[in-house]
Amino acid sequence: MQKTAGLHHITAMVNDAQRNIDFYAGVLGLRLIKKTINFDRPEVYHLYFGNETGDPGTVITFFPWEKQLKGRIGTGQVGVTSYIIPKGSLPFWESRLKKFNIETQVFIRFGEKYLKFHDPDGLQLELVERDEGPINLWEFGGVQAETAIKGFGGAILYSAQPHKTTEVLENVLRLECIGQEGDFLRFKAEGHLGNTVDIQLNPTVRGLMGAGTVHHIAWRAKDEEDLLRWRLLLHDKGYYPTEIRDRNYFKAVYFHEEGGILFEIATDPPGFSVDEPVDELGVKLMLPSWLESKREELEETLPPVELRVLEGDK
Ligand code: ZN
Repeated sequence: MQKTAGLHHITAMVNDAQRNIDFYAGVLGLRLIKKTINFDRPEVYHLYFGNETGDPGTVITFFPWEKQLKGRIGTGQVGVTSYIIPKGSLPFWESRLKKFNIETQVFIRFGEKYLKFHDPDGLQLELVERDEGPINLWEFGGVQAETAIKGFGGAILYSAQPHKTTEVLENVLRLECIGQEGDFLRFKAEGHLGNTVDIQLNPTVRGLMGAGTVHHIAWRAKDEEDLLRWRLLLHDKGYYPTEIRDRNYFKAVYFHEEGGILFEIATDPPGFSVDEPVDELGVKLMLPSWLESKREELEETLPPVELRVLEGDK
């Protein structure tokens, strides 16, 4: 039976590339694991942040584009992205975010304490302490391995039709519904990271795509053969999956679930060391072979960015 292990990656839209790097690498301490371009629009960066090896279930990716209008978080989107931090590290993160003037709020959901905040573009993020998932060995700025974000805990889906989204999670992706608390239904997958997905049952306003919103959420497939089976299954279940697309670091199909959220299914292999060594991930601008001839032109068009330790950490 087809079953996903959980989240593969989440992709969002923002306005400013440097601000994006300063926040996700500088403040949150994630590793910039890939600096490439939007394969469909090469004049726009595609930045990837994850754990030290960019494992599935740790990777958030961004299309930073200055001219993009601001979106609105709402139904038909991933509303909140959740990250796992090691047990006992919540006080560290509370004071770290405060140091960088980021407001936080504490929420309890399903008996867990969540520290919620916004990134500079308004994306909703939260941190939760859990034992699961391997320690992230990437250390940068003021974040050491014992407090580093391990990867995704999961996400909160703002579905326009929560019961339809429940159906796709349970009957297609094969997550298990493990309970309801207030407005939230909770689903669990088997992976060690990115395995907990909540659906908010009481939807807010309709989401508008744009800067500061999540573009899509991707689920894990084992390999390309598995992805082919996923595609057939989606077809059989009445969805309209795209053709398989080659994203260099994984292969993927996309489909809209009936709650309006763009879902992707992406293969674990080959991963982010396919075009540069693990030691050098994210340093150079990486281009797919078909754009290599345009490198000079692209490097001139794209705004210069750098990975840097922030003032507050010096
Ligand atoms: Zn994707």
